[in-house]
This record gives sequence, structure tokens and C-alpha cells, in this order.
Amino acid sequence: MTDVERRVALEAIATEVRACTNCRLHETRTKAVPGEGDPETEVVFVGEGPGFNEDRQGRPFVGRAGDLLVELLASIGWRREDVFITNVVKCRPPENRDPQPDEIAACAPFLRRQLEALDPAIVVTLGRYSMGTFMPGARISQAHGTVRPVDPATGAASALVFAMYHPAAALRTPAIERESYADIAAVPTALIDARRRREAAVEPAATTTEPAEPAAIPASSTQTPPTPADDPAPQLTLF
Ligand code: URA
Repeated sequence: MTDVERRVALEAIATEVRACTNCRLHETRTKAVPGEGDPETEVVFVGEGPGFNEDRQGRPFVGRAGDLLVELLASIGWRREDVFITNVVKCRPPENRDPQPDEIAACAPFLRRQLEALDPAIVVTLGRYSMGTFMPGARISQAHGTVRPVDPATGAASALVFAMYHPAAALRTPAIERESYADIAAVPTALIDARRRREAAVEPAATTTEPAEPAAIPASSTQTPPTPADDPAPQLTLF
């Protein structure tokens, strides 16, 4: 997909999301929240669903949880406009209740199509509902801070998923906030692993030095930054 095709595809999805009536959440929303960010990014953050402020503005993560997400990104030298940020459900559940399974299912094709268009190297899940889409059966208390290959059926054809707590949980619980800073510190290294995995997938098998599909990669095993000798692009920043 060319850059222009990607932008057109994302805008077409956003237009459909704004007009969507596929589940009951459209009845109570002010504005649908398709998601936003850099269409050329390698990194997609997926939250749960819009809250009060997001519903008013039609933009993801613009309330207090969004402020913390921006601080978490800043702690690794990244900016929100360098990544793409979206949610599992695109309309606010009333009173910020949890999204229901049929609402998640009704919205799933939008997320799948966004991931098909973006083709990210890494998907960062924020909270249980997002993690449930990419790491079915995982428990957030154990899975946060870890990476796995993404099932291509999600729309992300060749990506790793990195699980994090939801920033709203971090706002409520200082220990979770501390863990969230520790978790996000491992994301740049996970991105480098994801790039290598994608490169290995397009190289002939004879030149591949690592298994293309590791079953699970604990982030703790990927903490050591690569040296210039083994990585031609050793920087931990995105671009
Ligand atoms: N919480 C989410 O999960 N998503 C948002 O966009 C805002 C808050």
C-alpha cells in the first residue's frame, strides 16, 4: 500500500466510524472516536473506548488518562503524534462502563481494517479489553510488560503485541503507575525486535539467525540494547 493509499484507507474508515450505527453505543455518543496519529508509524496503541472528554472532542486519549499516556511516551522520548492511537470500541460506553462483548464484536472490523492499513511492527495494548483482542486468555497482572507475535487475523499482518496496564488504572494506583513506566521503557527494544522479525520474514531462510515465530518473548529477555556490531540501526528512538 502506498502512503497515499494508506491515508485514504484510514480516512475512509474514520468516515464510516463517525456514521456507524452498528451497535447501541451510537445512541448515546456525542462523537465517535476513530483514532488518530501518524499513518506511517510502526507503533499502534490500542485502548479500551472513549471516555467523557474523548466523546466530546472525537479524539482518543485527550482526558487525564491521555495526559498520562503522553507522559509515558515522553519518558521514552516519543510523542503521541509519532504513533497511532485508537480503541477497541470507537464510541463511549455510557457512564464509562466496560464495553460489552457484542459491542466489541460490532466494532472489531474497524480496528482490523485500521491495522491492515497501518501494518504496524508493534501493537501496544492499554488495559484488559485491548489485551483480550491480541492476547486472548492472558491475565494483565502477568502479561503486562511482555510481548508476543500478533495473530494476523487481527489485521496486523506481521507484528508483535506488547501489553500494558490502562493509564486510567495507573492514575488510580501508584504501584501500577510505576509498573507502567517500567513497562513502556521496554517498548523501544521490543520495536527493534519487531523490526528484526519482519526483516527476517522477508529474507531467505538461510540468512535467518532467529526463529521467525518465537512463542513468547518476555520483555525482560530483550532489555539489552543491541550493539552497533549486531545492529546497523541501534538507536532506540522511533525515527
Ligand atoms: N480510555 C481509553 O481506553 N481510550 C480513550 O480514548 C480514552 C480513555
